[in-house]
Amino acid sequence: MAVTVFTVRYLKKAGDIISDKIDIRSLDLESITQLVTDLSQPKFRALQLFKWLQSGVDSFDEMTNIPILLREKLSAISYIATVKPIKKYVSQIDGTVKYVYELYDGELIESVLMKYEHGYTICISTQVGCRMGCKFCASGLYGLTRNLTPSEMLAQITYANRDNNIRISNVVMMGMGEPLDNFENSIQFLKLVSDENGLNIGLRHISLSTSGVVSGIKRLAEYNMPITLSISLHAPNDEIRNRTMPVNKKWNVDALLKACRDYQKVTTRRISFEYALIEGVNDSEENARELASRLKGMMCHVNLIPANPVKENTFKKPERKAIIAFQKKLENLGVNATIRRTLGADIDASCGQLKKKTKEEIDGANIC
Ligand code: SAH
Ligand code: SF4
Repeated sequence: MAVTVFTVRYLKKAGDIISDKIDIRSLDLESITQLVTDLSQPKFRALQLFKWLQSGVDSFDEMTNIPILLREKLSAISYIATVKPIKKYVSQIDGTVKYVYELYDGELIESVLMKYEHGYTICISTQVGCRMGCKFCASGLYGLTRNLTPSEMLAQITYANRDNNIRISNVVMMGMGEPLDNFENSIQFLKLVSDENGLNIGLRHISLSTSGVVSGIKRLAEYNMPITLSISLHAPNDEIRNRTMPVNKKWNVDALLKACRDYQKVTTRRISFEYALIEGVNDSEENARELASRLKGMMCHVNLIPANPVKENTFKKPERKAIIAFQKKLENLGVNATIRRTLGADIDASCGQLKKKTKEEIDGANIC
């Protein structure tokens, strides 16, 4: 069989049967065409199959225009990756929906669906856990368990589309995990999600957020995609960044900003910088001044996020007036900056917090 990309060996939960099957929802149209040809089927079946897989069906049985015999063959050699929601929280304030999904191997990830005036945006996870270890982040608390497949990234969107009877138009890769630490799968996901025969979400409507994996930023520049690159900077200098983000010891602020400038030269896209304000750590006037001077001349936007408290650390968000003062300082120094609106404040979750809460509940109840 020629198509073996994204084949995974996995442990089936029920019965512990080890199985080797093709992760068919991770395949692009060319690979599906190859697969269909290998099965001696006419080429037009490939497009039918691809459309079904991208529409979010959970089983081959739902593919009514595909002959039963072919469906049986496909299910013998491949599987359709799905996500199973085990928790769903709906904000009473603004309708934001947060899902905790279970994967085939029992691992948990999370997605957040937000409604804006221009449509629906989903924040998806790209890994189970994360190995970057940022001190303020709940996702990094337990390290990396595994990468998500492109199909598992897609399934977070197709499930939310079907569950709410909507068409999500914007995606942010800002949930659990570091997308550039799962490079190939993230790229394949971008290819699939923007395919006009599938979800057809334009790359201009997608943001990829990284903690500063410079090698990945360089590789990403080679693809020259019109996505928005979002950098979790969170500090204006190495002294502070070293304390909160271990990735800075490998690629420091200078190296990161150089990679951003190079990336911008190639893509001509505005870069977004995330800056989580932590009281007494990175929120002084001097910090704002240093940040502005480092970003000088770059076409960029700074997103100020009041840091979300995580039980395991002592970080606190600054008072509202200190956050506004920080933003004004940046604006006065010529840096475009906005304070991120908090959505879903009543359903307590950002970056790993929901999964952690669910895991604690499950562990506590001894369900696992
Ligand atoms: N790993 C990638 C993408 C996922 S994290 C990255 O780090 O960019 C998504 C965003 O949430 C990042 O900007 C991250 O720094 C931020 N974040 C994580 N924990 C946070 C917290 N406790 N408060 C505020 N922002 C946080
Ligand atoms: Fe990982 Fe991003 Fe959290 Fe850092 S902020 S631990 S890179 S998910």
